Amino acid sequence: MADVILVTGGTGLVGKAIQEVVESGEKREGEQWHFLSSKECDLSSLEETRELFQRIKPTKVIHLAAMVGGLFHNMANNLAFFRVNMAINDNVLLCAHENGVDKVVSCLSTCIFPDKTTYPIDETMVHDGPPHDSNFGYSYAKRMIDTLNRGYSNEHGRKYTSVIPCNVFGPHDNYNLQAGHVIPALIHKCFVAKRDGTPLQVFGSGKPLRQFIYSHDLARLFVWTLRNYEETAPLILSVDEEHEVSIADAVDAVVEAFGFEGEVNYDTSKADGQYKKTASNDKLRRLHSSFEFTPFKEAVKRSVDWFVENYETARK
Ligand code: NAP
Ligand code: GDP
Repeated sequence: MADVILVTGGTGLVGKAIQEVVESGEKREGEQWHFLSSKECDLSSLEETRELFQRIKPTKVIHLAAMVGGLFHNMANNLAFFRVNMAINDNVLLCAHENGVDKVVSCLSTCIFPDKTTYPIDETMVHDGPPHDSNFGYSYAKRMIDTLNRGYSNEHGRKYTSVIPCNVFGPHDNYNLQAGHVIPALIHKCFVAKRDGTPLQVFGSGKPLRQFIYSHDLARLFVWTLRNYEETAPLILSVDEEHEVSIADAVDAVVEAFGFEGEVNYDTSKADGQYKKTASNDKLRRLHSSFEFTPFKEAVKRSVDWFVENYETARK
């Protein structure tokens, strides 16, 4: 029987990238892919989620749907991040189990790891200590996906697993200045600064370090994980440690992609968040040694070009 693959969060940054990767060659004969929007089903409702699974009858699920946001959105809404994401994750995994779905790949994040830790961080450290205060709600809800996966695997033999991406960016990102992550926010701000001849305002010191992954690279790795990864334990999907960059490097890449020649200011009254979350991709490299990531500057340029072309309709 051919697979019916449900992608929750199918309209978001990562979901759209998976859709493009699937439609440009990854789709196998007979497979049906269903990219879900919250408009079709509110996954925080158990009733709606049950109805969806009974209607779509998926055999595999990529579970992306979540309340997602950058540092400042998390700091202001920790309670909602916890409650909404706990509800969505519990409903999706329960309904997958109730409907006999044999494989689910859910999505954690490198920002859910312990704040006080040794580096590099690896997959064994998800539950080792409290996350950074700024996003405790999102982090604890994400960690519980791993707990659910262990339960469904141990008690019901399900292949429910998770991946741990680093900071993601690319076309179809959330460019909202309050809610967005740093790269889409910088792209939006730089667009406005160039258009209006005003300075580019960067938040914080620019010193924190981040690993960034281009959404299309993550999408290819997601599909590979669905097809090839058999463990319950999570798998980090990140660029190499030596490709970690500072926020100031990310600012420079955005400025270069726009050809912006105006003033760049750093507002150090704004939070820096966690200084770094350097993650090891050794496990991925062992399992999938041939994978090549898009160079950072090239990926930023593609993202900037997409935003400029789609300014009117982009999420902002
Ligand atoms: P996004 O662009 O904000 O998209 C979120 C998706 O979730 C949208 O498709 C949205 O649907 C859906 N959704 C939200 N609430 C829902 C609900 N109640 N019911 C059904 N669907 C709902 O997020 P993203 O950046 O693609 O993130 C995808 C996954 O990657 C998330 O699990 C996130 O935690 C993880 N992640 C993201 C990053 C990052 O830097 N962005 C880093 C690490 C991990 P609608 O648009 O139709 O409302
Ligand atoms: P994080 O990686 O989970 O911490 O989340 P973000 O993607 O929001 O990145 C936050 C880092 O980028 C912090 O060091 C912020 O100070 C810095 N930053 C600089 N300017 C901005 C901005 O306009 N928006 C956001 N979200 N972060 C910014």
